[in-house]
Amino acid sequence: MQGTDVFCAGLDMDYHGRAFEVPSTLMAEATDVRRLTAQCARCAAAATHSIRHEMTAERILVGATDLYAPMCAEHWFEERMAQQARARSNEMIAEAEDE
Ligand SMILES: [Zn+2]
Repeated sequence: MQGTDVFCAGLDMDYHGRAFEVPSTLMAEATDVRRLTAQCARCAAAATHSIRHEMTAERILVGATDLYAPMCAEHWFEERMAQQARARSNEMIAEAEDE
């Protein structure tokens, strides 16, 4: 489309840090990409990731600050490791209760 400016906005990654397919494709085709960030909920640095407080199988859950928080890469990684440790602990407790 010659002479037509197209603007798109959206999240580039899910709360797992995996790229969303459509924004990735659009960014590859774009002549100009500007990444905007929120402030990390813990340290106020540039938040390049989102953490989700609720661990479910769904990739997308509609929510706001009740479900998500912006995080810098360092704090996102720390929180993901803590979430995974809690999930493993809960699985071990559930297995022990089944025995
Ligand atoms: Zn941070």
